[in-house]
Amino acid sequence: MYPERLDHFMARAAAAYYARPDSPFGRAGDFTTAPEISQAFGEVIGLWCAVMWERMGRPDPVMLVECGPGRGTLMSDALRAVAEVAAPFRAAARVHLVETSPALRAVQARVVPGATWHGGVATVPRGPVLVIANEFLDALPVRQFVMRDTGWVERYVEGGAFVEVAVPSPLPPPARGGGRGRRELGELMLPDQAAEGAIKEVSEPALAWTASVAARIAAHSGAAIILDYGPTTASFGDTLQAVSRHATGLDPLAAPGTRDLTAHVDFAAIAHAARDAGAATHGPIPQGLFLLRLGLMTRAAMLAQARPRLAGEILSGAERLVAAEGMGRLFKALALCDHRLGPPPGFEEP
Ligand code: SAH
Repeated sequence: MYPERLDHFMARAAAAYYARPDSPFGRAGDFTTAPEISQAFGEVIGLWCAVMWERMGRPDPVMLVECGPGRGTLMSDALRAVAEVAAPFRAAARVHLVETSPALRAVQARVVPGATWHGGVATVPRGPVLVIANEFLDALPVRQFVMRDTGWVERYVEGGAFVEVAVPSPLPPPARGGGRGRRELGELMLPDQAAEGAIKEVSEPALAWTASVAARIAAHSGAAIILDYGPTTASFGDTLQAVSRHATGLDPLAAPGTRDLTAHVDFAAIAHAARDAGAATHGPIPQGLFLLRLGLMTRAAMLAQARPRLAGEILSGAERLVAAEGMGRLFKALALCDHRLGPPPGFEEP
């Protein structure tokens, strides 16, 4: 057995995990995401897209793209909401879903009829674009580098444990495919100075995805909203985590393919990569603040009033998305935009 680079291990584990026929989402599954907690989440994101479409000058057609749609709940809620209050946007929107799992594509097809599926953003047709990514980037593989007295070494996986491997310099090699003006990852990501034992994570697929989305936005106009968890500023640390049946803190290197593996999103690096590729960035700001500004609680109150028997559940779900001790603070919102569009809803300074 040869040691396997961490990102390769993670990619293999994720492919097996998301290809399972049973759904990992929801109470009976492994974890619950924002769109599964409250329909108001997908609704306000849909309206965010409709506002941006207006600012873009109402292009028809417009590509409405979601990456990693899971069970399709967010897109389904978003489309229902915009059909009601922004019918011209709904009519102009061509729905493209970026999803690698055949099992999840089948689930998505039931709730988002008429969509087109892609294995990556590269095959989405060119043109004005609105992109949604909720808990997508955290699922993409990371490499981990550790500072030793000899400099940065890289973590590999062997027999269910980490081993450290010297890395050839210059380090690490640049990602394939990025946008224009892309710098080498080494220059972008690995600082010269770090304390002994400090760990730096680098997600090359996340940076390549960002560069490609930002380049499209710069070339054809549009915007992207990224919602995920991670720190606002660049930081060190091993954030790789495994979740199974709502149990956290499991060994991420054990039983690959049976647990959801994620790492914190490095928002500073993502924003940097987006600006390098020609997009403006707004945020990251706490998800709670973003959702409150979009009127999530007002929408939840309306839903609660319409269904009094479910009111408690509806209101506590929405509360969980915005509360600091729920998902409101750890989760962040970051927007990538055409420079001409100005700060999107939720990111305007009050
Ligand atoms: N956005 C959904 C699901 C989040 S889970 C929600 O909030 O509920 C991560 C999603 O990303 C799953 O749909 C998974 O199959 C998909 N995914 C993971 N790796 C991917 C990759 N490399 N390319 C495309 N989709 C991927």
